[in-house]
Parts: sequence; C-alpha cells; structure tokens
Amino acid sequence: TDPVIEVEKLNFYYGSTEALHNIDLQFPRRQVTALIGPSGCGKSTFLRCLNRMNDMIDGTRVEGSLRLNGMEINAANLDVIELRRRVGMVFQKSNPFPKTIFENVVYGMRIAGIRDRTVLAETCEKALRGAGLWDEVKDRLNQSALGLSGGQMQRLCIARAIAVNPEVILMDEPCSALDPKSTARVEELIGELRENYTIIIVTHNMQQAARVSDYTAFFFEGLLVEFGLTNQLFMKP
Ligand code: ADP
Ligand code: ADP
Repeated sequence: TDPVIEVEKLNFYYGSTEALHNIDLQFPRRQVTALIGPSGCGKSTFLRCLNRMNDMIDGTRVEGSLRLNGMEINAANLDVIELRRRVGMVFQKSNPFPKTIFENVVYGMRIAGIRDRTVLAETCEKALRGAGLWDEVKDRLNQSALGLSGGQMQRLCIARAIAVNPEVILMDEPCSALDPKSTARVEELIGELRENYTIIIVTHNMQQAARVSDYTAFFFEGLLVEFGLTNQLFMKP
C-alpha cells in the first residue's frame, strides 16, 4: 500500500485532558475515508491534527507522528500555510468571504503569490467545473458569493480547496447544514473527487458514511476502535 497520510501513536491533549489516545491509522490514496463515532469522541480534533488547525487553540499538545507523503506534519519548522494548501479543508458551515465568487475561488492562489490574470481565470474555471458549479455561476463570477444558496456555497468552498491542487481534502460534516437535494449533490461530487484526491470526511450520519466512503474509521472516547473497508464493516451482523 501507498498511504497518503500515516498516523502513528498519536495522543492529543487539551490541557491535561486527553482527547485522542494512541491512534494508528493510514489513509489510502485516492479513496474516501469516513470518520464516524458519537459526538465528543474526537473526530474533529483528529481532523484538525492533520492540517494543524489545533495550533490555533491554546494549551493543546500533540504526541506521536503524523506524516503527509513522508513529511512530518508536526515538525517545528513546518510551513503551516503550505501544509494547509496541501491539506484543504471544507467546514460544516460553508464560509465564503463577502467577496466575489471569483475572489473566493482564487483566494488560496493569491496567498500562494499567483497574480497572472489568465492563470487565475483558467484555474478558477477548472476548479468550479471540478466542483460541479461552473454552469450555475459562470455568468456571475463578479457577483458576491453571499448570494449563493447553501448548497452552492458548500460547493464553492470545495472549489476553493481544489483550486490550489491539494493532496488531501478534509471535510467536517460538509452536509449537516444542507437540505436533502444539496446533500445528494455534494455526495455525488465526493464520488467524482475521489478520482483525483484523497478525501477524509467526518460525518455523524452512518448512512452517508456507507454511501460515500471506501474506508471507515470508528472512533469512541478518543480511541480508534475499528478501521476497514466500508462494505465489510457495514455488512457485519
Ligand atoms: P462538534 O461536535 O460538531 O465538534 P461541538 O459543539 O462539540 O461541535 O464543538 C463546537 C466548538 O466548540 C468546536 O470548535 C470545539 O473545538 C469547541 N469545544 C468542544 N468542546 C469544548 C470544550 N470542552 N471546551 C472548549 N471548547 C470546546
Ligand atoms: P467530535 O468531533 O467527535 O464531536 P471533538 O473532537 O469535537 O469530538 O471533541 C473531543 C473531545 O475534546 C470532547 O470531549 C470535547 O469536549 C473536547 N474538546 C473539543 N474541543 C475542545 C477545546 N477547544 N478545548 C477543550 N476541549 C475540547
């Protein structure tokens, strides 16, 4: 196997409270892995370890090893901005900026210092096509992203993530604020994105995990209790 992310003996603490204990997990390349388990079991904390979003929370501590294509994610001298380009994140509530649709998509490219109009425009179109949104927004790229529907905003955030060519896309309950139709659209999109990206999705919805994922990781009280092919895990009596 050729995992994209390898996690070894991961412990995570909020102050003196241990939220993750001795997690060993490898994420298969170009597959969808669902993280499931009851509220408070550590799924979001685990996801935030993968792009160091926990760094923003005071008093946290990580032990163990997390490698992205061989690179240690917790290295002290790591370029965290570059890490977050390589490990994109889509949140539960989509968070477009109060700017144009175009500027929302090219946000990460601007941070990366890309200024060429043609490159920005071409990449914007490609990312919006990849997120299944191009036909809906191509005539209003210069209008505010805040005029989009909830489902469109969520796909816009996916376009923003893929515009900078990440290796992994993290999704934290990406459909929990969406209606059934938009949820189905995003699930279909996840199926398409797995051709090119490794996707890790947190969901509290077992049916959704069964529908969209190739692999499933069950967490319980800070422990990884089961990991395997979704088809096999969900067939167990
Ligand atoms: P979810 O289960 O969807 O992660 P929560 O309501 O548990 O939502 O958490 C919402 C926010 O509050 C998250 O950013 C989380 O990190 C933070 N949070 C959760 N538990 C605590 C806690 N015990 N102390 C401080 N912040 C917390
Ligand atoms: P899940 O995503 O599975 O709902 P979380 O990762 O949000 O679980 O939370 C795991 C544990 O860590 C919970 O006990 C939660 O209260 C605690 N926790 C989460 N965020 C914080 C925080 N910012 N500060 C302190 N404790 C937190």
